[in-house]
Amino acid sequence: MKKLVLVTAALVAAVAVFVGVTLPPRPLSLAPPADGTIPGIIHIHTNRSDGLSGPDEIAAVAAKLGLKFLIFTDHGDATRRPDPPQYRSGVLCLDGVEISTSGGHYIAIDMPASPFPLAGEARDVAEDVRRLGGFGIAAHPDSPKLELQWTDWTVPFDGVELLNPDTGWRIWAQQANGSAPWAARRRLLSAVIDYAFRPAEVITSLVQPSGAVDKWEQLTRRRRVVAIAGADAHAKLAPRSADPGDSRYALPLPSYESSFRVLSMHVKTDRPFSGDATADGRALMRAIRAGHLYTALDGAAKPASFEFTATNEHGTVNEGDELGVGGPVMLRVRSNAPPGFTTILWANGSVLGADHHEQEFSVEAPAEPAVYRAEIRATGHGNLGPLSWIRSNPIYIRGSEAAAPAVPRPPVTMSVPIFDGAADGWRVEHDPLSLAAVERSPNVGGAELRFRYGLAGGASVGQVAALAFDTPRGIAAYDRLTFSIRAEHPMRISVQLRVGDDQGESARDRWKQTVYVDVSAQERTVWFDELLPVGKTHTGKPAFDGIRAILFVVDATNTKMGDSGRIWIRKASLEK
Ligand SMILES: [Zn+2]
Ligand SMILES: [Zn+2]
Repeated sequence: MKKLVLVTAALVAAVAVFVGVTLPPRPLSLAPPADGTIPGIIHIHTNRSDGLSGPDEIAAVAAKLGLKFLIFTDHGDATRRPDPPQYRSGVLCLDGVEISTSGGHYIAIDMPASPFPLAGEARDVAEDVRRLGGFGIAAHPDSPKLELQWTDWTVPFDGVELLNPDTGWRIWAQQANGSAPWAARRRLLSAVIDYAFRPAEVITSLVQPSGAVDKWEQLTRRRRVVAIAGADAHAKLAPRSADPGDSRYALPLPSYESSFRVLSMHVKTDRPFSGDATADGRALMRAIRAGHLYTALDGAAKPASFEFTATNEHGTVNEGDELGVGGPVMLRVRSNAPPGFTTILWANGSVLGADHHEQEFSVEAPAEPAVYRAEIRATGHGNLGPLSWIRSNPIYIRGSEAAAPAVPRPPVTMSVPIFDGAADGWRVEHDPLSLAAVERSPNVGGAELRFRYGLAGGASVGQVAALAFDTPRGIAAYDRLTFSIRAEHPMRISVQLRVGDDQGESARDRWKQTVYVDVSAQERTVWFDELLPVGKTHTGKPAFDGIRAILFVVDATNTKMGDSGRIWIRKASLEK
């Protein structure tokens, strides 16, 4: 008995010493903010998807911490009608969605419900979000988990999540399984023990510099991209599942409160919140869309206060704004950073000034076009690494010259109709439970091809209905398919090329490009060099002489189970 007490006492003492040595510092507490920004959090999962709590409970937590807005982003396909902006516990709550695409997760906010499920290729989902008027954010681009990582930087997203605490521990965990695992394992062990004492500080200490910052910076030289910090708060942790919270065996960690203490966005709206949720929601979104915001790692120091402006002969602008080229540029930073922190100014991805420790300073930059941003690093603060405490959005100094136009495609030199009024050669394909039919439909001034489909209801079991045109001699002579199309209700269909049965190894391989179909007829061109493989194919590119069918496919990716409708095609031609 005495021995047990002694062993226990020794263990407690050992943990106490360990914690004393490894415990990350408390956030420095700073002078009250004077920048007129509104603090809040984006990227939150509620119990409508895989989060622990409902919106009211989560808002009550945010209110306690002094946050003024929350943007919920439950996983979904964007067909659920989002809640209108509303105040809960005095916190303005907006409702968005996090969409799974084949190129990573895409957050869409400020958007009505989509008339069809959004899914599939990242570029298509981004196009749908933009058409619906939403603001799209590439989520966790630096996640080491490949299913989560945003991969396609050519997609025209509006914002990018450069800070996501969920990514931090995943990188450490990956290193702990890597070639030099011990340092990372020690780091994670101390995090697990220290977590009980200072959860938000531990999450903060695990944040790692993001490689996505360089890619973002390169993009901003061509177009505006808003930098966002997302909490990715679930209040659930399931280390082995793809997304935190997906598993039934999840731990209720970190709590919403701990997540909300780690980081925040500070948005400068063009007028203060009035208490009218609709009007305030609009003001908030105007500011976010304009990039009038900075991100702060509150787990290092809080509350943040920060201003970044640029002045030249055209006037003065704030972060997120563009300013025409006009004489030397005066860049000004004002913050409440502690003296040990370091402020860095960046110009086109290069350091312009790296050794500022004062809270207010100006730097003169040359007149040339450039993209400027400011960053304050939490240097000299306990055992924390040189974390980025504050990251501004860029100020864009640009000439009036328009961006270089896209390389034009060659004009049509050959056009062979595959539908010009007679339905010859057209047929349908469908799974055993779904229905499809095609007929010629007389119309003023000619005829249309009318395709009717009805996908079977119930669970997803590979429902598919397709309109098919056989191409027995291949399509090697062409580089595009052009057609005029409309549908009974807005939808996204997949135009596919399929190899024939007689083509050996690659028999039945398919390539696709999805297209949006509206209720009024619109012309669409599918370029064969832009096609992507459907699943696994035997060749990297289609062998066009082996293509035996062109398919217009309605399937469960972008169409609800049990949906039925009609699609009309007026003209369709293979062209070069
Ligand atoms: Zn995600
Ligand atoms: Zn998420």
